[in-house]
Amino acid sequence: MKLLLIYTGGTIGMVQSPEGDLQPFDFAQVLGHVPELARLSVTLDTWQPWAPMDSSELHPSHWEILAAGIHARREAYAGFVVLHGTDTMAYTASALSFMLQNFGKPILFTGSQLPIGVMRSDARENLITALELAMQGTKDQPLIQEVAIYFENQLLRANRAYKRSSQAFSAFESPNYPPLAEAGVLLHVNQSNLWRPTGPFTYVPKIATRVGVLRFFPGLDQAFARSICLESGRDVVILHSFGSGNAPNWPWLSAILEEGQDRGVLFINASQCPMGGVSQPAYAASRTMRLAGVLSAGDMTIEAVLTKSMWLLGQGKQGQAFRKGFEANIAGERSL
Ligand code: ASP
Repeated sequence: MKLLLIYTGGTIGMVQSPEGDLQPFDFAQVLGHVPELARLSVTLDTWQPWAPMDSSELHPSHWEILAAGIHARREAYAGFVVLHGTDTMAYTASALSFMLQNFGKPILFTGSQLPIGVMRSDARENLITALELAMQGTKDQPLIQEVAIYFENQLLRANRAYKRSSQAFSAFESPNYPPLAEAGVLLHVNQSNLWRPTGPFTYVPKIATRVGVLRFFPGLDQAFARSICLESGRDVVILHSFGSGNAPNWPWLSAILEEGQDRGVLFINASQCPMGGVSQPAYAASRTMRLAGVLSAGDMTIEAVLTKSMWLLGQGKQGQAFRKGFEANIAGERSL
């Protein structure tokens, strides 16, 4: 069996610079810290799509490079493991779940909270177990057939996961969908939670970035809301609302949303609560959102909402076509 190990950067491969901060380092050095890899019964090829970077510096154009490279190598490998910084891992991995639809093979992202050269690092376990999970099943019938994140004993669906901690080894969680697999003494794959292709593999690589986020907060004023919703020139504005999708019923806010809609701006209601999601009819305080015909993000993560929006816009979807695509469950990202 052949797997491709892809190194994009992140803490996992960083070393301390003379100034004392962490800087990305080279792939051969990273692998040198995991001699156990030679004991896996797998042929491991490597690919470094760009000079290793802190993931906070990645741009959607990097998602396009990564998706194109994986697409081009799909036939040659049984699965893919991507080493990536944790900061934006959930964004890149979510984006790939849409760009490489029904991929039919594992694309497993992992990284670490401590660099691989540090004695207490979580990197070795994350890397080795991610590879072992990618090896489950056969080349033609892999057990995991979706984009996922492996971190600290859990395999999570990529477009359901978010970074919850900057300190804990269990950096990710998936509050609205159960883990795909758990690694204890045995690797336990929760088969009924796995995504299975709903059609043929489709490569849909284009991303358009004209998406913005307005996070509600007590004290939000009209000028600030206008600048994000109307003056920023976005095609889609995600309204990051309170609780179950609530926003103040202020007349000026309704007026801004109506003006935006007249100009063709699409508004999405996504909750600031990572667990639960939007249920728009719950409170009178969500009336503004309902009356303005704002789309509900349901129980999607904000990372999935943002990347799905960029991906739909990349396909030129506007108005009704965008709504239809957004409301559909494309890669297991929503159940509400
Ligand atoms: N800043 C790092 C990154 O995202 C953090 C990490 O990898 O854990 O690249």
